[in-house]
Amino acid sequence: MSPLPPPADHGLHVPTPGEGAREELLRFLDREAAVAQATKGRLAVLLVELRRVDRLQALLKGPPAAVTLSLVIERLRPALRPEDRLAALNEEQVCIVLPRIAHPTQAVLAAVKCLRALDRPIAHEGGTAVLRPCVGIATVPEHPADPAQLLMAADVARRIAGTREEGYHVFQSEDSIEAEVYHGLDIDLQRAIRANELEVHYQPQVELAGGTPVAAEALLRWRHPTSGPISPTTVVGIAENTGTIGSLTFWVLNTVLRNAAQLAKEGITPRFSVNLSTRTLVEHELPEIVEQALGTWSVEPGRITLEITESSMIGDAERTMAMLTRLKGTGVQLSIDDFGTGYSSLAYLKRFPVDELKIDRLFVSGLLSDRGDHQIVRSVIDLAHNFELRAVAEGVEEEAIRAELGRMGCDLVQGYLVSRPLPEREFRAWWLARGKGR
Ligand code: C2E
Ligand code: MG
Ligand code: MG
Repeated sequence: MSPLPPPADHGLHVPTPGEGAREELLRFLDREAAVAQATKGRLAVLLVELRRVDRLQALLKGPPAAVTLSLVIERLRPALRPEDRLAALNEEQVCIVLPRIAHPTQAVLAAVKCLRALDRPIAHEGGTAVLRPCVGIATVPEHPADPAQLLMAADVARRIAGTREEGYHVFQSEDSIEAEVYHGLDIDLQRAIRANELEVHYQPQVELAGGTPVAAEALLRWRHPTSGPISPTTVVGIAENTGTIGSLTFWVLNTVLRNAAQLAKEGITPRFSVNLSTRTLVEHELPEIVEQALGTWSVEPGRITLEITESSMIGDAERTMAMLTRLKGTGVQLSIDDFGTGYSSLAYLKRFPVDELKIDRLFVSGLLSDRGDHQIVRSVIDLAHNFELRAVAEGVEEEAIRAELGRMGCDLVQGYLVSRPLPEREFRAWWLARGKGR
């Protein structure tokens, strides 16, 4: 087969979003998919979901969508090779075709470069804003070279990417199972909430010195009637992407407070930790929702700890700070989850009104086998204590690790060694048995 002539714009032209550019890109994909098939060559399709583009538009004082998208495309262009093509599919998504790549990792590299390119604030006359993009990737020959199927696979991968910390995902054949799960999920999650398919399990936290149980983390569980258990990170990702995160958070919070009120009648009064997703933190009404739920169930605010991940503090520090201050004003405690994996600076720690640092499971599990992990755990414990915060180690599976954490002065432990996350009834039984045992 004779090689195709180079594209007329040779990558220098910035396509304006709209029908024309989109149609041209799809024709390009058609041609290149056929080339890949005929030559047994490689090709990748990247679908970039911009996320929060509405906020970008608002912050940039409302330039038309076309202007916003061309600002994004200008950013992405230098991350790509001249032969790569990109165009907006709609106001939220940009599609990139990488023809004739040598290896699938090249597609991942391109995705990472695109994410980095969008990592810095985008400026326009009105102001600046940061996007939280995610990228779905589908590659040929790992996937059939049919353009429509490729786009669909990249779209499934994009939805999964939205639930992953790294922000990208390469479509795998088993993802089609998740794709089924995702199908119509915005409705399904709402239905699941109503049909009581969601549950909250509780994982105890005990004091290192003495082993007294003092708290429990609430962890979301969803057993889908046909797909089986779905991981909480996937559920949260779906909820974030479909706009149901607000009702999900509300549901979890109310369930925990209802259980807390019931358990208190039996003299079981742990502090309960509830996870908040990054998206929830931008919901202005969150502190009022928390306050209202606390009032409804008459639970003392100090018995609730809200966990936010370290990475959610990095984006818009001023905004996060304002939200955390308002949350703290309701009387609840605040914890930074997965500490050590983000890049929060000491200056933030000093300013943010937090009560607890949770050391990421990754470092805890490597405590005895990896010197670096040992040093990180030690530093986080010392850091916590220097700021008069509690240090909690999660993911403790071995007695030797617990013992070492004890020597290091860690305050609380949580992990399979103590107990797995338990349904409410089992948690109650565990707590009572544990209480009697001492
Ligand atoms: P996380 O908040 O860091 O929760 C700790 C995770 O570690 C839980 O996974 C828990 O089951 C697991 N874990 C605890 N001890 C051990 C151990 O000893 N070994 C191992 N291998 N794992 C352990 P899970 O339940 O799958 O939850 C995953 C993540 O999903 C949570 O991470 C949290 O970020 C998120 N999540 C869970 N429930 C909610 C929720 O209600 N709302 C939000 N926004 N996120 C939630
Ligand atoms: Mg947590
Ligand atoms: Mg964690």
